[in-house]
Amino acid sequence: MSKNSFDLTTELVHAGEPEPRIEGAVSMPIFQSSTYEYSGEGQYDDIRYIRLNNTPNHKAIQKKLAVIECAESALVTSSGMSAITATLLTFLKQGDHLLSHKSLYGGTASFILEDLPRYGITFDLIDTTDPSGWSMMLKPNTKVIYTETITNPMLEVPELGAIVDFAKENNLISMIDNTFASPVLFSPSELGFDISLHSCTKYINGHSDIVAGAVIGSDKLIKIITSRMNHFGGSLNPGACFLLHRAIKTLELRMIRQSKNAGQIALFLENHPEVLSVNYPGLVSNNSYERAKKYLSGFSAMVSFEVVGGKTRSIKFMDQLDIAINAPSLGGVETLITLPALSSHSGMDPAERVKAGITDSLIRLSVGIESVDDLITDLDQALHKTTS
Ligand SMILES: *Cc1c(COP(=O)(O)O)cnc(C)c1O
Repeated sequence: MSKNSFDLTTELVHAGEPEPRIEGAVSMPIFQSSTYEYSGEGQYDDIRYIRLNNTPNHKAIQKKLAVIECAESALVTSSGMSAITATLLTFLKQGDHLLSHKSLYGGTASFILEDLPRYGITFDLIDTTDPSGWSMMLKPNTKVIYTETITNPMLEVPELGAIVDFAKENNLISMIDNTFASPVLFSPSELGFDISLHSCTKYINGHSDIVAGAVIGSDKLIKIITSRMNHFGGSLNPGACFLLHRAIKTLELRMIRQSKNAGQIALFLENHPEVLSVNYPGLVSNNSYERAKKYLSGFSAMVSFEVVGGKTRSIKFMDQLDIAINAPSLGGVETLITLPALSSHSGMDPAERVKAGITDSLIRLSVGIESVDDLITDLDQALHKTTS
């Protein structure tokens, strides 16, 4: 099957599948072999070995990931954090400078704040929703600009086109964590980003049963990152490749359903007297609405909000829910609810956290595929039961 010759829905099922099918198997088998018979490979990275990310399971899922984001190449990794850290450490070295969005996924933020300085790499934090301040922060040694498609947990959408232009004008490598949008809502390569990163743990796998990551981009850049990753050792095992491969086939169905549910829930919450504020880029009242409409083909399935009554009420409300599970992480078929201040962002300095809008009472909802009527009824009863 040639690249991008079919719709996304079709490619999710068929792209990257081995041709001819292995022993006729319709489903990609697991190759549980750490090493492979030597067949004339001339370079280290080509030796067939699980850590070198090139077993049949790796090749199939990597091809699928590249095709669905309209990119040339992809590397699947042992976690989202391994994808992010290996990619940053590939393109940043001692003496280099990074421009990064000011509020990122907690793990990435901690890596930039705590680890990069240990390697002599400096950074400045910028607001990627507003291009006006970027040039001022540029330095002769700036090498990379880094953002997320939809930020966590405030769910802001950056000025994505301006980031691509700014990177090209200033010879920077543009990187974007596309986890929250998934390849269904946004293709970074199509807009011109150099590198797209994913925690496949979230929407791409979608079943809350593995941890995995991906880096997607041009053949040239992915080859460079793969060589570094082969040293760092963050490869995904073939069993997890198999589960990811199986799950990705339903990504679009899940994403469309989950986003639709989230849109209805965001409207319900916005109109509820016991809810103070709602963050969802699909609400016309939201600051990111115009940018989301311009760049994304949907508004995602993440919603964050504050209820009347502060942190105590938030906790009581979450305890009263029958469907949503109080757990960190996101993107699975089941609805999850969490207080970012106690979970994903608990490692962040409390003052910095509040500055980023993440109050102690902010609730984040990862909306699943359940019946939206059931979800809304459940949220409503929990709000009623805990009226402050
Ligand atoms: C979860 C997450 C990560 C980290 O991924 P892991 O698979 O947990 O290592 C990175 N970025 C975003 C936006 C995430 O949600």
